[in-house]
Amino acid sequence: MDQSRIAELRDAPVPPARHLIGGAAVAASDGREMEVCSPLNGAVLTTMAKGTRADADQAIAAARRAFDSGVWANLAPAARKAVLLKWAALIEEHALEIAVLGVRENGTEIGMALKAEPLSAAGTIRYYAESIDKLYGEIAPTAPGTLGLVHREPAGVVGAIVPWNFPLMIGAWKLGPALAAGCSVVLKPAETASLTLLRIAELALDAGVPPGVLNVVTGPGAEVGAAIAESMDVDVLVFTGSGPTGRRLLEASARSNLKRVYLELGGKSPNIVFADAPDLDEAVKVTANGIFRNAGQVCIAGSRLLVERSIHDEFVEKLAAFTQTMKVGDPLDPDTTCGAVNSQAQLDRNLAFVEEARAQGRTIVTGGGRILQDTGGYYMAPTVITGVQSDDRLAREEVFGPVLAVQAFDTEDDAVNLANGTDYGLAAAVWTANLGRAHRMVRRIRAGLVHVNTYGGSDLSVPLGGVKQSGNGHDKSPHAFDKYLDLKTAWIKL
Ligand code: NAD
Repeated sequence: MDQSRIAELRDAPVPPARHLIGGAAVAASDGREMEVCSPLNGAVLTTMAKGTRADADQAIAAARRAFDSGVWANLAPAARKAVLLKWAALIEEHALEIAVLGVRENGTEIGMALKAEPLSAAGTIRYYAESIDKLYGEIAPTAPGTLGLVHREPAGVVGAIVPWNFPLMIGAWKLGPALAAGCSVVLKPAETASLTLLRIAELALDAGVPPGVLNVVTGPGAEVGAAIAESMDVDVLVFTGSGPTGRRLLEASARSNLKRVYLELGGKSPNIVFADAPDLDEAVKVTANGIFRNAGQVCIAGSRLLVERSIHDEFVEKLAAFTQTMKVGDPLDPDTTCGAVNSQAQLDRNLAFVEEARAQGRTIVTGGGRILQDTGGYYMAPTVITGVQSDDRLAREEVFGPVLAVQAFDTEDDAVNLANGTDYGLAAAVWTANLGRAHRMVRRIRAGLVHVNTYGGSDLSVPLGGVKQSGNGHDKSPHAFDKYLDLKTAWIKL
């Protein structure tokens, strides 16, 4: 990484941000703005348009016009591919600038941000661009007198509402397949992570994505997001975020046009370590990184450690020792392994979980509090808590911060019961050298993603999505196209 360039970019002024609607930068219809604060020091980084329902409606109308005109949807797939490949290349060209802007806005460690944000977004856009001219329809196995053709057609106007953690990675998981499929999009970023999505949307225009095909409206979820969810003119709604918001979106669909709603929600993912794990030191390191990187603000974070009782004390001791070597602080320092918490509100939420556990008599083995307060930034020490009970809030509810709840188990059945004992089902991991046990556990754990002897790091080739209250749709892999391509049957008498 170019340290001198990072030093230049870290204090560069950030111009006020506007919506991107119909290819133009647009202020909020009532002129309102909101402050964008940096979690690195609590200072105001810039302002951005505080969107209204009218702004969302304007963007939806622009997306509808662009879709109905066929300017994008009716292009040959190979022509859309060419534009999207150019877009991916532009994002890569500006990757460091975009990554630093994102770190200043949401606090992810720069090394991780560079890979997981602009570079991952470019990779995702390229993946779906490369796929779209290789997707075929079907000829049905009909009797000789008829021909049944199954076409796959772009679904129309997509509303995409995304969270503040990894806005580009998660945003691209929606934008890549939606735009490759020929849909038009209205994107609503989170209030505390909008700037980089606006930046890549500008680059989409530069690459040749026609005006109106990709629109970005910033501002409060309860106004802009709700207007998208309630619109009669949005055909598909894709969402990554919290369960309560996901419920509202389903209700809004039911009250409006029954738009399809795909939800990627949170998790309380169990990371299960058996005594026969192949390499306990590796398991310790990966466990810590699996919960503490990006200050725990990772949807699949392994936030519950379930460890076989015979190795519980040894494992926790090693984990605490490793955790204390992790460098927490300035996310623009390349040596930092745990950056800032995204906002004061999230920091307060994290600390409240710890205080509740403390009051319940659970053991705070390491961490447990805010640190580096003198910076003005929102930093928290990675926290390991043992003795957690299954009905504690800490064992059931997502913290979305650097807080690990530890429970001991005795048998494989106990481990399965604990693992499946929450409302969530996003991710899990099993550490064991026993191949049979590994496969049994993969089958028995109710989650969309089960790791074996690792945590995190799956690539685009596999889907990501949850079961139970972790959601109902999948990002990544060719399966993501299913959300953005409608099946249409032609039944032809010969
Ligand atoms: P959130 O639900 O508060 O916000 C997500 C988005 O929804 C934001 O853009 C927000 O402005 C918008 N929103 C808020 N209220 C709305 C409303 N009433 N109507 C429409 N839109 C509204 O979630 P968050 O705090 O930004 O994100 C963290 C959550 O996201 C965590 O629960 C995390 O686990 C989850 N997450 C899930 C995945 C996954 O792939 N499953 C990935 C990352 C994050």
